[in-house]
Amino acid sequence: MIDATRILERIDALARCSEDPGALTRVFMSPQQRQASELVLSWMNGAGMSARVDAIGNVVGRYEGEQPSRPCLMLGSHLDTVRRAGKFDGMLGVIAAIECVQSLHDRGRRLPFAVEVVGFADEEGVRYGTTFLGSKAIAGTFDLGVLRIADAQGIAMRDALAANGFDAAAIPSAARRRDDILAYCELHIEQGPVLEAESLPVGTVTAINGMSRLAVRIEGMAGHAGTVPMGLRRDALAAAAECVLGIERIAGGLPEVVATVGRIEALPGAINVVPGEVRFTIDTRAPRDELRGHAVAAIKQHCAEVAARRGVGIAIELTQEAGVAACAPWLMDQIDAAIAAQSIPVRRLPSGAGHDGMAMKAIADIGMLFVRCKGGSATTRPRTSPRPTPTCRRKSSCASSRTSVRGRRRRPARTGRGDLLDALSARPGRLRAQPAARGVAGQRPHRRAIRA
Ligand SMILES: [Zn+2]
Repeated sequence: MIDATRILERIDALARCSEDPGALTRVFMSPQQRQASELVLSWMNGAGMSARVDAIGNVVGRYEGEQPSRPCLMLGSHLDTVRRAGKFDGMLGVIAAIECVQSLHDRGRRLPFAVEVVGFADEEGVRYGTTFLGSKAIAGTFDLGVLRIADAQGIAMRDALAANGFDAAAIPSAARRRDDILAYCELHIEQGPVLEAESLPVGTVTAINGMSRLAVRIEGMAGHAGTVPMGLRRDALAAAAECVLGIERIAGGLPEVVATVGRIEALPGAINVVPGEVRFTIDTRAPRDELRGHAVAAIKQHCAEVAARRGVGIAIELTQEAGVAACAPWLMDQIDAAIAAQSIPVRRLPSGAGHDGMAMKAIADIGMLFVRCKGGSATTRPRTSPRPTPTCRRKSSCASSRTSVRGRRRRPARTGRGDLLDALSARPGRLRAQPAARGVAGQRPHRRAIRA
C-alpha cells in the first residue's frame, strides 16, 4: 500500500535539510546533504533494502528479488537542489520509489528481479557548475578532470569530497555495468504547465529533449544618442531585438521546438549612447535532434540576414549541445499501462528539462513518469512550491494524489496493482525478455550547469 501521507512527510523532512533558513538549498558535499543522506538511508533500511552511500555520495538501496544477485530495475532521482528550490524537485522521485519498495516489503513480496533506489548526490550542478555528477558516476562516464574545479569559495571538488570522507580516486568504483540494470525509471515533477493545463495528474515522458546553446555577439557602431541621425546608425541593440523576435517566430512555427533568449547585454550600456555591441544567448530544445538542427540553422540564418541588412557584424558560437535522450518504447508502454490501470487518461509528452536519465542512458534503457506541478514551475517559492496538484477523484498513483493529505485515507487499490512498481512488474517476463539496448546518449560533456 502506498502511503501518500508518509511520502509528503518525508518530503517535508528533506526540505528541512537546507542551508537557507526559510528556503530550500542543498548542494553537493554539504552538511545538509549528509543530513539528507542519513534520512534516506534510514528510510531505505526501513523498507527492507540494504542501503549504502557510494563513492560520489549517491544513496543506493537494494531490495533483492526472488533470488539474490539478479539484475535490478533502478528507480531514483536527485537529492541535491538548486538555490531556493521547490521541495518536490528530485526528492519526490526518490521518496516515491522508496515507498513502492516499502509496499513490496510490507507484503513480503519479492519480484523476479531486484529493485534499486538511488538518490543522486548531484544533478543540478549548483556548487561546481557540473551537472549529473551522481548519475555519471553510476553510468561510468564521470570525468575525473572535474575534480579540479573549485567552487565559489575556492574549494576544489576533490577537497570537498575528502572533507566529507570520500576518496575521489574511488569514484570509478561507483560505476555499474549495463548487465546489472534492466532499466532506469524516474518519477519527476513536470516543471512545465502541460499536465496542469490538461487537468492530468501524470504523463509518460517520450524523450528528454536535446538542447543547443548559442552565444551571439553583434557589433554595430556606438555613437552619441543626440548627434547621430537615425538613418546613419548601426545600432547593435536594435539589430538584436529584430533577431530575438525572429527567434521567437521561428520556434513558434515549429511544433515542439522551444527557443529562448534568456540573457542579453548591451554595451556600453549608457542612456545617451547608441549601443555599439550586444551579446545574447539562445537556448533551443526539441524532442528530435534533426528538428533541433533545423531550428538552429533557421535561427542562425535569420540572425545573419538581420545583421547583413543592418550593416552590423555578427558572430554566433555553439557553446553547449546535448542530443535527445529517448525513452525506451517498452518502458513507455508499461508506464502507459500503469496509468491506464488507474483510469487516468494516458498522455505522452517530452521533457523540456534535463534529467539524470540523460546520463543513465549510457548504460540502461530509460523511462520517466511526470507528475504535474502547480504553476508549471520548479523553484517559485521556498519549500512550498510547486506541489503536485490534486488529483481529486483519482486514486493514488505513487505521489500524484493528494487524497490522504486532505485527511482521508487512501482507498485500497482495486486490483492490487495500485502503484507504479506493481504495474511495471505486472509483466516481469517482459522486463526479463527485453535485452538492454546498446544505444548511447548522444550528448556531449556539459561544461556548464544545465539548469535542467
Ligand atoms: Zn529535478
